[in-house]
Amino acid sequence: MSPLTAPRARSARSGRPADVECDALVVGSGAGGAVAALELARAGRSVTVLEEGPRVGTRELAAASPAESMRRLYRNGGATAVFGTPTIAYGEAHAVGGTTVVNGGLLWEPSAAVLDCWAAWSGYGSYRAPVIGPRFAEVRRRLGMIVQEHGDGNEDSRLLALAAESLGWRWQHPQRVVRGCEHRNQCATGCPSGAKQSMAVTYLPEAEALGARVSPGVRVERITHRHGVVRGVEATGPDGRRVRYRPRTLFVAAGPIGTPVLLRRSGIHARTAGRRIALHLNLRTVARFPRVVDAVRGTMFTAQVQEHSALGMLVMPSNLTPGGLGAALAGRAPDLVDDLLAARSQLGMFTTQVRMQGYARIAGTVAGTPLLRHGMTRADHHALRLAFRRTARLLFAAGAVELLPPTSAAGPLRTEADVEAYCARVRPGDWELVSVHAMAGCPMALPGRGGVCDELGRPYGFGNLHLCDASVLPGAPGISPQGTIMSFAHEIVARHLESA
Ligand SMILES: Cc1cc2nc3c(=O)[nH]c(=O)nc-3n(C[C@H](O)[C@H](O)[C@H](O)COP(=O)(O)OP(=O)(O)OC[C@H]3O[C@@H](n4cnc5c(N)ncnc54)[C@H](O)[C@@H]3O)c2cc1C
Repeated sequence: MSPLTAPRARSARSGRPADVECDALVVGSGAGGAVAALELARAGRSVTVLEEGPRVGTRELAAASPAESMRRLYRNGGATAVFGTPTIAYGEAHAVGGTTVVNGGLLWEPSAAVLDCWAAWSGYGSYRAPVIGPRFAEVRRRLGMIVQEHGDGNEDSRLLALAAESLGWRWQHPQRVVRGCEHRNQCATGCPSGAKQSMAVTYLPEAEALGARVSPGVRVERITHRHGVVRGVEATGPDGRRVRYRPRTLFVAAGPIGTPVLLRRSGIHARTAGRRIALHLNLRTVARFPRVVDAVRGTMFTAQVQEHSALGMLVMPSNLTPGGLGAALAGRAPDLVDDLLAARSQLGMFTTQVRMQGYARIAGTVAGTPLLRHGMTRADHHALRLAFRRTARLLFAAGAVELLPPTSAAGPLRTEADVEAYCARVRPGDWELVSVHAMAGCPMALPGRGGVCDELGRPYGFGNLHLCDASVLPGAPGISPQGTIMSFAHEIVARHLESA
């Protein structure tokens, strides 16, 4: 083993940061970082992974309340604002395994149409279906993807599927990476049974078995560089001590916001990084049915309506938990809340995902925390109205007798005419929007087209620095993005290994 392959710490004296020499350093351990860690370890590299968040095991997740897990696993306790009209609530995790620890385990392959569109926009033609398809197949195989069919419960999904069929709309059972899901309905606060195949229980342990070291609680502050060569990485350890790593190759996978923030802080493409962050927006509709649906029973959901996916629009039930329902009703009139809680077993909660056409950006930082702003366009407002109209149509076809639209001040809607009146009245600032999918802040595209990195994920002008997470996607895929992110990350690391 060469002296560089094992990390060597030169002890710090008089408060100077300790120096650690290492071969391949990966920042972030989520969907992108875990791929880099495993593939580099498989290629015989000595790998160190620095992860800002904690390592939380399945047993700890099972013992914690959802509120405790939320505070521990999510950045800012789950409340990151993307300011604008309206302000959007954005969520991502910080933990060993990244956001895959709290996600729904949905795994979809990016369509050939989306990849072709990205190739045309970015000026890079090679990340198309013939290249990305086999990468996705590898991810699917490694994570053991299954098709989540209706089982016990999930009556809300059955109703949605039947409604789609009655309208002649396309729907599908979701594809998920779970092994023996116990239907505990706690995906978003960390799987308490270990069924979800997050990076924390798959790629990372495999990389560690091959010798990779994963260091939780280490926050990377800055990358130092000269003439396009990374010289060092300055980090703060769990005990607050500063450490300087001297990697031969650096992979940055700090997530859709973390990666552009780190580049900007390090003076790397500070003008373009984080200027054009793409989002998927979620609209939440509560529906009341004339009979018991017991939506809390079952796994996350078992039907997704994809009829309008070409428009970047998907409809699915969302995890109905008593806490989640309480939060959804929080802004409503007290009498209505009493009434709805009394009818809890007849309620379902539905998510409509819409691809946003305007972009978010990092507008600055306050005490090291990024300030995010978005510029939702008129076309987005129009798309949200269209998405709500179609969702309402579907839910009425499913037998719903009353809908609560994603605007707390609006009363229940009981007819298509009510829906039309609501859509005519709703203003952009009235929408209550959530986003859990951000990407494309450092897109892989030619520099003249707003790109930050090349086809090896290297920021322009750099040789030993690669980006490999959600930030490199050229845009929003319109589907849950983990499969796309991991496929791109596999391809980036493979190209690096071929070129090294
Ligand atoms: C509630 C929820 C449900 C979701 N459901 C799905 C789903 O079912 N299917 C799907 O495809 N997608 C889903 N997603 C989105 C998906 O999980 C993310 O798009 C994906 O994990 C992003 O991968 P990434 O590697 O870019 O970032 P992440 O997975 O977020 O990993 C980035 C990691 O980098 C670390 N980091 C950041 N900055 C630093 C720093 N300076 N120093 C050290 N470490 C740092 C972070 O702590 C984090 O752990 C969901 C997201 C949420 C929030």
